[in-house]
Amino acid sequence: MKFIASMYISLSESLGIYTADQLFELFTTKEHGLSISRHRSAIVQSRVYFFSVLFAVLVPLWSVVDIIFLPGELWNGLLLIRLLASAAFVVIAWQAYKDPSLKRARSLLAGMLAVTPLFYLASAHLIGAYDLHGTEQIFAELYALLPFVMVAGLTLFPLTLAEFLVYALPMFLVAAFTAYPQTAAEIPQAVSTLWLLVLILGVALFSALSQLRYMLSQVSHASYDVLTGMLTRRAGIEMLELQFRLASMHQASLSILYFDLDNFKAINDTYGHEAGDGVLKAAAQQLCKSVRKGDSVIRWGGEEFIVVLPTADPNEANEVVGRIMRAGVGERPEGEPVTASIGIAEVQEDKLSDWKSQVELADHRMYTAKTNGRARSIGVNGEAQVWPGFTVTAQAGGG
Ligand code: GH3
Ligand code: MG
Ligand code: MG
Repeated sequence: MKFIASMYISLSESLGIYTADQLFELFTTKEHGLSISRHRSAIVQSRVYFFSVLFAVLVPLWSVVDIIFLPGELWNGLLLIRLLASAAFVVIAWQAYKDPSLKRARSLLAGMLAVTPLFYLASAHLIGAYDLHGTEQIFAELYALLPFVMVAGLTLFPLTLAEFLVYALPMFLVAAFTAYPQTAAEIPQAVSTLWLLVLILGVALFSALSQLRYMLSQVSHASYDVLTGMLTRRAGIEMLELQFRLASMHQASLSILYFDLDNFKAINDTYGHEAGDGVLKAAAQQLCKSVRKGDSVIRWGGEEFIVVLPTADPNEANEVVGRIMRAGVGERPEGEPVTASIGIAEVQEDKLSDWKSQVELADHRMYTAKTNGRARSIGVNGEAQVWPGFTVTAQAGGG
């Protein structure tokens, strides 16, 4: 039992899995965000491109070996198959050069992986008709290694478990079909071939999953701010772009809040940077709690956050602001509530043409809220909400 537990721990450590979410991310793409899908498609497509080009050249080139070592009629037939395979690789490489998308990456990988078994089946069919001996047989036997090549090819890609099985199963069936023993004497050979295939598949699965895990953690490092755990500006821009596109396409509402903590520098100056960090972290987490699950909080910079509220019209955005103010965003070290100045902008009401102008407008309104005395929001039609219980004179002088 202890042994199993330690095996489990070392496996999950070697794959970098510490939470259930991290495990499920390896099963299917359901929980994969936008960035990871984009990143993965780009990687898969560029690798498919590289290997397709390589094979498009090498596969017909190998005919030289066929010509030297195999009987005349046989290499004729093989050359034709090789040219067909090469043409298929050229088409795949050409498609892989296009803009990456998950759908394209998946089908091109399937295409690339399908060429080898087809090539193998056709060549095995041709070679099977000959009774070869000596050197001829050695070079003909090389063709029998093709199933291993294609299965090993799976080690090169960051894949989920579901994707891996979809790709590996047909390959395994092709290999099992061709290795199927015709006579009792062939049984040991068939069993050892299939067993070797299973082993290689195991290694390939480990490699595919660990590449995916590594990629997921890299993307998540780049997407989440270390101090607050909110989206980084870079990941936030991707989110803003996407949400803006969706809202414009469906003429749906989309609000953002530009959120800047009031007199924050004074905390650093009086209590030190670490105290400032603590306040910042608590404020971000509190902000997160006050919004819905589908909303996003971006750490836009320093003590400034952008909250993205998909489908929220100006009224709903105001309600969210009211909720944030009532729940508060933590306390200053001296015990006063932390407050912020908030600017709201909404795509439809403000007739905005891109996400940048939405951010600019919200920033502008935030600035108005600052100059009007802080601890307040400025909404779409200039409507203001003041932080509950806030006394304007107490903090208006800072910054
Ligand atoms: P205002 O009400 O006008 O916004 O005043 P303010 O003091 O909040 O504004 P200002 O922009 O002058 O100061 C922001 C400060 O935030 C300056 C910077 O030192 C501090 N800051 C930015 N990032 C961090 C951080 O990660 N940790 C800490 N502790 N402070 C930070
Ligand atoms: Mg600021
Ligand atoms: Mg500030």
